[in-house]
Amino acid sequence: MAPLEIAFVDGMAMFADEIKNVQGISGKRAEVLEKSGVKTCLDLLQYFPRRYLDRSNLSRVRSLMVDGSEATVVGTVRAKQEVGRRGRTRYEVLIEDAWGDQLKGIWFNGVSWISRVFQVGERVAFHGKVQRFGRSAASMVHPDFDRLDEEGPALETGRIIPLYKGGVALQRVGLTSRVFRRILYQLIKTRGLEIPDILPTWIQQKYHLIDGRVALRAAHFPKSHQELERAKERLIFEEFFFLTLMMQLHRAMRQERRGIRFERPGDLYGRFIHDALPFALTGGQKHALEDIIGDVTSGRQMHRLIQGDVGSGKTVVALAALLLAIDSGYQGAFMAPTEVLAEQHHATLKKFLDQLGLRMCLLKGKQRKKERARLLADIKEGRIHVVVGTHAVIQDMVVFHRLGLAVVDEQHRFGVLQRAQLFKKGEDVHMLLMTATPIPRSLALTLYGDLEVSLIKELPGGRKPIRTQVLWEARRDELHALLARELGKGRQAYVVFPLVEESEKMDLKDAQSGFKNMQEAFPNYSVGLVHGKMPSEEKGESMRRFVSGETNILVATTVIEVGVDVPNATMMVIEHAERFGLSQLHQLRGRVGRGGNQSYCVLMADYRRTPEAQARLAIMEQTTDGFKISDKDLKLRGAGDFFGTRQSGLPEFKIADIVRDEAILAKASQAAREILSRDPHLRSEDHAVTRKYYEHFYRNPSRGTASVG
Ligand code: ADP
Ligand code: MG
Repeated sequence: MAPLEIAFVDGMAMFADEIKNVQGISGKRAEVLEKSGVKTCLDLLQYFPRRYLDRSNLSRVRSLMVDGSEATVVGTVRAKQEVGRRGRTRYEVLIEDAWGDQLKGIWFNGVSWISRVFQVGERVAFHGKVQRFGRSAASMVHPDFDRLDEEGPALETGRIIPLYKGGVALQRVGLTSRVFRRILYQLIKTRGLEIPDILPTWIQQKYHLIDGRVALRAAHFPKSHQELERAKERLIFEEFFFLTLMMQLHRAMRQERRGIRFERPGDLYGRFIHDALPFALTGGQKHALEDIIGDVTSGRQMHRLIQGDVGSGKTVVALAALLLAIDSGYQGAFMAPTEVLAEQHHATLKKFLDQLGLRMCLLKGKQRKKERARLLADIKEGRIHVVVGTHAVIQDMVVFHRLGLAVVDEQHRFGVLQRAQLFKKGEDVHMLLMTATPIPRSLALTLYGDLEVSLIKELPGGRKPIRTQVLWEARRDELHALLARELGKGRQAYVVFPLVEESEKMDLKDAQSGFKNMQEAFPNYSVGLVHGKMPSEEKGESMRRFVSGETNILVATTVIEVGVDVPNATMMVIEHAERFGLSQLHQLRGRVGRGGNQSYCVLMADYRRTPEAQARLAIMEQTTDGFKISDKDLKLRGAGDFFGTRQSGLPEFKIADIVRDEAILAKASQAAREILSRDPHLRSEDHAVTRKYYEHFYRNPSRGTASVG
């Protein structure tokens, strides 16, 4: 026992020891590192190389054909120059590989600093995404780089050289790969054995993993490719293990907690299902509701996710669940990710709630003070049954009289921790989460491992599959013909433009000129415009006019992506479709095909198409199955890009990759289940270190959570 005790205490110190105490890390370096989430010695040890350089994995410039693919190129600096006019300059460094082909590194930031870094004639490595602009040389914008002459003859001797993230911010404070290696070497040499192994021995043995300390050392200083592979496997396992452990612990803790007990379905619920609803529920909807009723009458808190493809009718399920709450004397909250969507939900729910004699309200970010005060008072005193608003608005402002159920729509934008913190105030409130993004199994384990899940597989009957066609720019006439035909039948159409953050202004201009073009092409119809930069009043008004049918064509940026429901719309035109991810295209397409009429989706794509974009768009023509699409999307784009930007709620991994490492994920998740079934609270001595590390892992917010954008 005693030796473990010592290692335990020291090891814990290592978890928390600040990096400024590490040799080689001064104040400025510490600052830069802390900014990127590296705060403790342990973080530093887990600051794994981005890639490894040896003679086997270098690319030839000539073979770099595909736009956007990542590569590492070693070459000699041939020229460097500042380009462009004052105030808008960039810096270009031209390198030449061993076969005489050239690649350009381009920097828009840190120009004057970069100009001093490289010397003509020295050898460097560039890593990054390859781009080709027309016929000019292949280039990389803001590549990570390493100066290889500093490395000595390592490359020639066949060693594997670990390369760390090498952006300008790090390099400026001297944190080059070479310096990282020196710092880590010292750290591991002097203190490497202090860290205890954070996985229990029995798990290591059962899953044939190598020792944790050996793995850490080998990840930074591999002796062979084989050793490196074993080290990665162990560290990836570890990362997945603690994430899935967290999910499963959350779930177990919740199941121990008491929740509000609703009564069996009562009068309101019955009247809604049998009288008010103009259609019969689908099998999937019925099952989901049975699951929900089971949860809310069990005396334990519900945390259920309804996963159903776009158009599968989740709103009706949520509404029925809200009526269960009201039947039992509680209030409900309905939270949407955007204000446009909140308004839409408000309108949909209102139709039914009015019929049933219930009161609801919509809370908005901008609302007159007096009006809001009145609404808040009504909610607090229980005069309002259902409150609709965005997550932020409801979380920030509202005190309920007796909240029983919170519905969270389009919940994939939340991470595990955000979910846990959604309702700090009323912890026993039942939670119903809904998402229209079908998630491959691997992702579901890491995103939803803490939830119960109901699937709605089918779409309501009578829907015809949407016909999808990719049209290249030259065939725009065909698009107009199709639009004219559908509008002629009295149907409505969406025309959607992408909104990419980096070039927001340009995109907006695109949408605005698209709007004008539509007005000119269809002078006899009314055209509306909605985009993210509009004041929310205008946005709402524009949406309302389309919903009511006053406008025939709605030109929009992607603000309409989620949830909008206009059954009379039968055409979805997506401009610059090649810029969207598959899942997003699928979401957008799901805005049509909601009535009984044949609907169409036209994907307008640019002439600058790549084989990758072509493959992606072809999938949209081939299938309307959301699961197939999301699976392909994940494989094509990788986990990082799967959900688009920040808002994903996807965990940020240090070394693991959900797509590539799916098999390890399954094992790690199984191991997490096993440890909890042996020792539900990790109280046994054998698991003391694992528990300590778990606590560290849980508190470290860069892990297992991504911030809500
Ligand atoms: P989503 O799951 O994408 O949120 P919605 O809840 O917006 O889908 O439902 C899509 C459309 O289908 C709505 O117009 C809704 O009224 C309709 N709908 C829902 N359930 C059924 C059903 N069982 N039968 C027919 N139509 C339905
Ligand atoms: Mg919806």
